[in-house]
Amino acid sequence: MPPQVIAIDGPAGSGKSTVARAVADRLGLEYLDTGAMYRGVAHAVLRRGVDLNDAEAVATVARSVDLDVTGSRCLVDGEDASEAIRGPEVTAAVSAVAANPAVRVELVKRQRRWVDELGGGVMEGRDIGSVVFPDAELKVYLTASAEVRARRRADEFPGMGVQQVAAEIRLRDDADSSRAASPLITADGARVLDTSDLTVRDAVDAIVEMLE
Ligand code: C5P
Repeated sequence: MPPQVIAIDGPAGSGKSTVARAVADRLGLEYLDTGAMYRGVAHAVLRRGVDLNDAEAVATVARSVDLDVTGSRCLVDGEDASEAIRGPEVTAAVSAVAANPAVRVELVKRQRRWVDELGGGVMEGRDIGSVVFPDAELKVYLTASAEVRARRRADEFPGMGVQQVAAEIRLRDDADSSRAASPLITADGARVLDTSDLTVRDAVDAIVEMLE
């Protein structure tokens, strides 16, 4: 049987990770957070003291880094970076790293290998339905209002108010949506789901219904 992929894309705070993980649990499927992979590369770039603007050096990090993303755990070069990749330094650097086309080529290769090895699963990110698996069995684009998204991401920005967090999120969304390489878009054939007023359970129910 060909690999079956459920692609879940959307901007920061749209509920992707929580919902994608819960869909995988409900259906007994594997789950991959591709955002954690980009964050893992950004973490390695910072750790190795590589200049974020040096595209070739950043690409070399992406090709050489040992990344192990399983569930919500992320090992970078064998070290547990699960918390560090959610911190403000990595969050501020990740969009620049993700805009590097050579980084994307490397990570997309690893994401497709993951599907080949595991036979499919739920994959969440920004370009899964548009680039990584355009033939996914189901493509979902999650959204939520700016305020709801800011509230969900408040813990990434300690000490900031909701308005300030919303501004930070907008910056990252703008960078992710306007980059030349695989920008965040609603993929052809994707079903749009607004999670602003949905519980996780409602969102999972809606996605499972789409499959049926
Ligand atoms: O999903 P999360 O917010 O953790 O993703 C972090 C960053 O990784 C995004 O802001 C985006 O720049 C990048 N990303 C991407 N493509 C993906 C997943 C994440 O460019 N498939």
